[in-house]
Amino acid sequence: MPELPEVEVIRRELEPLLTGKEFAVPHLHMPSTIEYPSPEEFTAALRGRRVEILNRRGKYLLIILNRGVLSIHLRMTGNLFYADEGKAREERFLRVSLPFADGSALHFSDMRRFGRLWLTETGPELQELVLKRVGPDILNDLGCEDFLALLEKRAGSRLKALLLDQGFAAGMGNIYTDECLFRSGIDPNRRVGELKDGEAEKLYRAIHEVLAEGIEYGGTTFRDYRNSSGALGDFQSRLAVYGRKDGLCRCGSPIEKIRVAGRGTYYCPRCQQ
Ligand SMILES: [Zn+2]
Repeated sequence: MPELPEVEVIRRELEPLLTGKEFAVPHLHMPSTIEYPSPEEFTAALRGRRVEILNRRGKYLLIILNRGVLSIHLRMTGNLFYADEGKAREERFLRVSLPFADGSALHFSDMRRFGRLWLTETGPELQELVLKRVGPDILNDLGCEDFLALLEKRAGSRLKALLLDQGFAAGMGNIYTDECLFRSGIDPNRRVGELKDGEAEKLYRAIHEVLAEGIEYGGTTFRDYRNSSGALGDFQSRLAVYGRKDGLCRCGSPIEKIRVAGRGTYYCPRCQQ
């Protein structure tokens, strides 16, 4: 499932390709991919609008237009790719093609069909329909002091569950959460209120380091993730614990898989106290 680094890789790749382009008439191969407005309204309204910049909040890609915002969430298996309009026809799970006036196009494919697009007109509409339950972006919107202040209000929460909670801070998923807790040496079962002096700051630094490395290595590909030119990510080769059940930690101890907050969680019982 794409997390913050994968969406950020796509954002950085697409921004120079899309900026200034004007949308032509969309092709909705699976109309239910459009969450808002109706597929008919979406098709009529997008045509003629121009891309200004690409933003991101957590796992949401926000394409800012000269009027309104096109929001995209990849969910489990969504992929965005940029190719000439005809080139994507063989793509197996093509759900939406958004051609531009110059003949190029942004395509959305999605095997599991959970990914969604929204076209909203105003800031309040974007907030109400798309970002209502989405907290500040954990990489761009939170300084260390802000992060510590948010943690203070959630003393009873387990760290693993809290970091996965998009309303607390947006962007982390299962893979990067396990990696960040390993990097900061914190047992995923612990609660916020049990952190000792300096551990919350260490966690904040680990989150920023791990997410930055994930972006630098083009994201993590286990099965489905591709960037917008179809390339695989490379961060999976650098994961310290995630997906490495029965593998050895760099300390020599076996990595264990447990369930925390209902999610499969990888950790090293020796390095994470
Ligand atoms: Zn270890």
